[in-house]
Amino acid sequence: MGEIHLRPRQIIIIVVIFVVIILFITNTRQNCEFPKYYRSSARKDDLPTIFAITPTYYRPVQKAELTRLSHVVMLVPNVHWIIVEDADHTSSLVTNLLQRAGLVERSTQLSAKTPTQFKLQGKDPNWSKPRGVEQRNAALRWIRENTSKDDRGVVYFMDDDNAYSVELFEEMNKIQAERVGVWPVGLVGGLMVEKPILNNENIVTGFNAAWRPERPFPLDMAGFAISLDLLHKRPEAVFSFEVERGYQESEILRHVTVLKELQPLANLCKEVLVWHTRTEKPKLTEEEKLRKAGKSSFDGIEV
Ligand code: UDP
Ligand code: MN
Repeated sequence: MGEIHLRPRQIIIIVVIFVVIILFITNTRQNCEFPKYYRSSARKDDLPTIFAITPTYYRPVQKAELTRLSHVVMLVPNVHWIIVEDADHTSSLVTNLLQRAGLVERSTQLSAKTPTQFKLQGKDPNWSKPRGVEQRNAALRWIRENTSKDDRGVVYFMDDDNAYSVELFEEMNKIQAERVGVWPVGLVGGLMVEKPILNNENIVTGFNAAWRPERPFPLDMAGFAISLDLLHKRPEAVFSFEVERGYQESEILRHVTVLKELQPLANLCKEVLVWHTRTEKPKLTEEEKLRKAGKSSFDGIEV
């Protein structure tokens, strides 16, 4: 067998090519790698469908809010996003957004207008009227009609202005049959964090809420998700215009669970994975001047 003789120059070239290939591989790996929690969920095919319900209404920041949310939904393959517009008809703004995000297949676009007597008037400093009631109920109706009690699923109320971590959805995957998962919510109820309180056996015994702590379930809408089977078992579990401000969460939860049955998630409620942020209303004084002069800055542009 003839031996291969390499000249020193050839050896150097081979080594350099080798090093370049190794560098290329490790580099692309780093660039494409998702966080650990995300990779583990992307691989599993036995995940529940997370029905994320988003009530939304037209205002200047709507597209920005929904774009932010769509990027979270894009990252979590087992979410089915139900957007319910507070309007007589669904809008092309939402349809286009879902199309561009590649979410048509795993979303549902509905409309359900808040009855006029419950509509917010002007600034409404007291937040006296319930928001999102009609829309969330429309989505619950859709879910009850389009799924069966044997489907594995979780229902989450995902308002359009909050900030959500992808990790939160990883937690929702852990919700057991006939249970309601709970976790802390940042920046709500006048506190840095509103959270469930657990005893030594990790059973939920209450909440640290400072605002109306006497509520049966003193937590925010963003702080829980319900196993789908419970909604089929309890068809009467819906939201109501009749209850006092701050009691919507208690209104639906009282039908489906009791305090000690709540399933604590997010590292036994020690991690904040969702924040009750509120978007500032933009000042559009110059736009208003243009409008009065019969002009606009956004002719033919969807903002
Ligand atoms: N919402 C709605 N119609 C309204 C007001 C609010 O559909 O007239 C939606 C809004 O887009 C959000 C949810 O209801 O997804 C809760 O409203 P908001 O975030 O204003 O309430 P808060 O932050 O005070 O709980
Ligand atoms: Mn909000």
